[in-house]
Amino acid sequence: MSSPWVKNSEPVQQVNLADIMSEQYAHKLHDKEVQRQTEKLKRPEEEVSSIWETGTSPAAASYSNVAGSSGKVQNDTEEWEDYSALLHDNGIQPEDFEVPEDSDAVIAQMLQSQFDHEYNEELRRIERQQNKQSKVTVTLNKFLRDGDAEFLHDTAEDDYEEDELEQLKRDWDRFEDNERQLDSIPRCGFKVNKEGEMITKHDPQLCAVRNAQRVMSFPPEFPTGDAAGFDMKLSNKVFNQLRAHSRRGRSDKHEKVATAEMGLDAGTRLLLYKLINNQILEQINGIISTGKEAVILHANSDTNYTGSNEHGHQSGVLMPAHLLPRECAIKIFKTTLNEFKQRDRYIKDDYRFKDRFSKQNHRVIINMWAEKEMHNLMRMQAIGLNVPDVVVLKKHVLVMRFIGDNHNAAPKLKDARLSAAEVSCAYEEIVAAMHKLYNEAKLVHADLSEYNILWFEGKCWFIDVAQSVEPKHPSALEFLMRDCGNIVNFFERRGVPNIYTKEQLFEFITGLNAEVHNAAQLEQIHTRGASINQATAPNQEECPDALKPLEYPFELAWEKSQQDREATKALKQTQDDNDNETDTDKDQESDANDNDIDDKEKINKTAKH
Ligand code: ADP
Ligand code: MG
Repeated sequence: MSSPWVKNSEPVQQVNLADIMSEQYAHKLHDKEVQRQTEKLKRPEEEVSSIWETGTSPAAASYSNVAGSSGKVQNDTEEWEDYSALLHDNGIQPEDFEVPEDSDAVIAQMLQSQFDHEYNEELRRIERQQNKQSKVTVTLNKFLRDGDAEFLHDTAEDDYEEDELEQLKRDWDRFEDNERQLDSIPRCGFKVNKEGEMITKHDPQLCAVRNAQRVMSFPPEFPTGDAAGFDMKLSNKVFNQLRAHSRRGRSDKHEKVATAEMGLDAGTRLLLYKLINNQILEQINGIISTGKEAVILHANSDTNYTGSNEHGHQSGVLMPAHLLPRECAIKIFKTTLNEFKQRDRYIKDDYRFKDRFSKQNHRVIINMWAEKEMHNLMRMQAIGLNVPDVVVLKKHVLVMRFIGDNHNAAPKLKDARLSAAEVSCAYEEIVAAMHKLYNEAKLVHADLSEYNILWFEGKCWFIDVAQSVEPKHPSALEFLMRDCGNIVNFFERRGVPNIYTKEQLFEFITGLNAEVHNAAQLEQIHTRGASINQATAPNQEECPDALKPLEYPFELAWEKSQQDREATKALKQTQDDNDNETDTDKDQESDANDNDIDDKEKINKTAKH
């Protein structure tokens, strides 16, 4: 059918309605149309065959036929002319050119070649583009299509490419030029240069250049100078020395990176994700602080939190939904070996954690550390001290109330700008808090200083209490004395008048005079429960053994923890037994009967003997 959109050059025949309606006329029109169609279909066949089939053999058409007939077919098959031109450029001799019997197959192959050629051209263009912008040379050679070379080889275009590369190269400095030179050595490890010399990858000149390049990829903190700025060459010996030197600081660097990132390893991210998924937190906003022991993040709690998540599971949150603070601080405890060594001291002698400490791996210990902070915060809160409320604890991730507002963390006491009156207030508040902490919460902060007290809404807030210990901890008094020293020094520097000395503060808190009582006496009082009279009795020989100071009080903490452990075990056991008794009365009766029989047999046996 002829297209209705083609402009018809033939004049439109005028027909009247009667003719149009005539069936005969309709048949005539149809026949005419069919004839026109068959004529049109025939024509390209003739043309194609005229290209491939004229010549001595129908199977081997000559190139001259191809070239010669190209003009004729221009309208219908433009590609033909292109190919003939390309074949010409390629220098393929007409007689070399084998034409397959099936001309359609040849057309397909040539079209494929044309496609491949264009595809390769595009790749080269991308390659040039990339290499122009970057110092790193990329090659897309392995993606080039083979068909290109099979039928077409456009040397003219290749020359152009070389020219353009030359043009680009002019802009590169020597360093990058050298880089390309090295890259040009194929995988087999050698190449032959223009002079016919073989150059291997071990060539001293090339090695020197390569070494210079490698130096440029040393860690950024290693000063290399601008090797690209001059023609730097380094012998293998020099390079090896430089490399050894650059690696010297590396383990340190890895440790630092690990420490910085440790808080947010995959496991931690999963925990945070769960907090969001359980609708406790809405979003995590960013880092408040990265200390040596913990990373603190700021987060918003989920306003839709109802006390359980959407699946009805309890989320472990330690407060009712309506008290959930809008802004939260997430403390993520870091897990590196160095810190454990410092922490050991606080946790291993804390009888509460004693029996769990020695047998655990790093992960569990770090979780205990977070748990310890949670317990201590809650204990401090219970006696009315200002500490962040604990929201939830998940392994080594502790979520608590954010001290501050609108994403602005409250300043540390050391950074807070306080008036003289406020400083005095802060001092009074801290002294009272230390007293309360020791005497009511039975805790010693053990890292109390202006760094771990925040100033918010005109009050002091105590944080960072993971290391806090009970007074019976063997080092509790030593820690307390250090805390007193920190606080007194700070307020002294701030010029607060009439403040305690650290010994006076210590005495105020403990009721013990550190100047009067020596360390052994203090230890006796605190770790063994002796009265002051006993501890200060002139004749220590008469002091009961149980109250004599130990040279190394570690054992005491151990003993106590063992006793506590046994006691809780025994308690649990009796509870379990009671439960079992009601469940298995019948079983026990039959067991009892069996035992009776056994006992009787035993008695009989011994009687015989
Ligand atoms: P570290 O063990 O690293 O010292 P801290 O618990 O002391 O960890 O926290 C480090 C810093 O993070 C604090 O000095 C404080 O500025 C900030 N920070 C910690 N907890 C909170 C909180 N609940 N609200 C606001 N800021 C906090
Ligand atoms: Mg701290």
